Amino acid sequence: MEATLKYPPLRNLVGGAPTANGDAYLDVFRPSDGAVISRVPLSGAAAVDAAVQAAKAALPGWSGLPIKERVQVFFRYRQLLEANIDELAALVTEENGKIESEARAEVLKSIELCEFAVSLPQITGGEVLEVSRGVECRIERHPVGVVASITPFNFPNMVPNWTIPNALVLGNTMVLKPSELVPLSAVRIADLLREAGLPDGVLNVVHGDREVVEALCDHPGIAAVSFVGSTRVAQIVYRRATSNLKRALCLGGAKNHLIVLPDADREMAAGNIVASMSGCAGQRCMAASVMVAVGDTDPIIARMVEVAKGVVPGDTLGPVISREAKERIERYITEAEEAGATVLLDGRNYVVEGHEGGFYVGPTILDHVTPEMRIAKEEVFGPVLAIVRTRDVDGALAVENASPYGNAASVYTESGGMARYVADRASAGMVGINVGVPVPREPFSFGGWNESKFGVGDITGRGSIEFWTQAKKTTTKWNREAGTNWMS
Ligand code: NAD
Repeated sequence: MEATLKYPPLRNLVGGAPTANGDAYLDVFRPSDGAVISRVPLSGAAAVDAAVQAAKAALPGWSGLPIKERVQVFFRYRQLLEANIDELAALVTEENGKIESEARAEVLKSIELCEFAVSLPQITGGEVLEVSRGVECRIERHPVGVVASITPFNFPNMVPNWTIPNALVLGNTMVLKPSELVPLSAVRIADLLREAGLPDGVLNVVHGDREVVEALCDHPGIAAVSFVGSTRVAQIVYRRATSNLKRALCLGGAKNHLIVLPDADREMAAGNIVASMSGCAGQRCMAASVMVAVGDTDPIIARMVEVAKGVVPGDTLGPVISREAKERIERYITEAEEAGATVLLDGRNYVVEGHEGGFYVGPTILDHVTPEMRIAKEEVFGPVLAIVRTRDVDGALAVENASPYGNAASVYTESGGMARYVADRASAGMVGINVGVPVPREPFSFGGWNESKFGVGDITGRGSIEFWTQAKKTTTKWNREAGTNWMS
């Protein structure tokens, strides 16, 4: 069987060496046709312990380098991402399914993340002040130690690059646990970092699922745990890591609302909303999930349906991650229809010719969804948009505010005053005004509110510096004659 796999079975990376992992493996699928392309080891606590020991051993050497030396690795890594973008994007398409342009955009975002990381020496310089005559205080940022990064399936290249460059430039060493559904990109990231000159043990990769995550949360050698994935697991990881007295930052799922006012620019709103709900097959934590249509927005909705008909599975729309995901998404649509929603565009039972085994769901738009329906409340994570109608903007905000999530919210209007009104009142960490996927670009940081994020700070940009470092405050006095005050 192994001989027929496109990629040989994967191994963990511990202290720079690929390591054998016992007998338990999971198949890795290609979502576009359902073929098995590799196998990923299901590691356990022993593999986590070996990786933590390797990261611990690498810590003094790596954290002892001046930050200006550490960033040199990431200047080279950034160039390698660019030089290898075709191959990296193809790998993302292979294991995750997203179409080529989306996969390239993901790698381009990884490059931008690196560009922020190499600027860290310029913005983490610390502070010094004469606090009393002859006495100075200085604050410096130190790494927290060995950190863990646990990542989801939907951005196999970008999400590991949310954490690796910043955490490592700031002097930490890491154990990465990539999603078992998309482990190949993480292995290539580690390869490229070695090629860029990252010392052995600074980044270790342990494959697996729940058991690895639990071992990372429990291991006394891990100082901080970052997690990106569903809210259910984010809560489990946050509780477990913090109860073991670690710092934790856990990003969860989303249910993003786009509030559309009747004065919105029809072409822009329709095009953006369809792109937001169907891009990456709706498998983005920033995807439009509910359109809250205020008043008469029928012309915009009619145009959205036309635009969405041009989004073609197998061409401009990739598959979802798995057969289970396809079935789950289709169940949500059927249940909403049975509960009274109007199906304006139906993506169920889609088969792409020549890719009959692929996990495709076509773009789907459901009108007259009510806030009580499951499809209006739960994360669907597919190319599906639920339209909820309200009479006025306060009604729309009430729908948005009732969601337990709070990743993103957007408003479409030509009125600056109304845009500000909605932006001020939306209960979300990232707000778009005439922007359907309001991902903050570097140096602004990424992170939601409410049940879309547990922990303090954000996962990228300036907002991540506090999480990956601890402040040392040093008070110094050399001039004894000046010591006439309380600084003894
Ligand atoms: P997931 O929660 O199923 O898995 C995430 C990680 O947790 C994986 O590495 C997985 O192996 C591990 N895991 C799964 N079950 C576990 C358990 N019971 N105990 C411990 N670890 C476990 O998420 P996913 O399906 O890979 O990714 C999609 C989800 O991620 C969506 O909910 C999406 O909104 C969310 N997401 C959020 C953001 C954000 O920034 N907020 C970004 C990307 C994805």
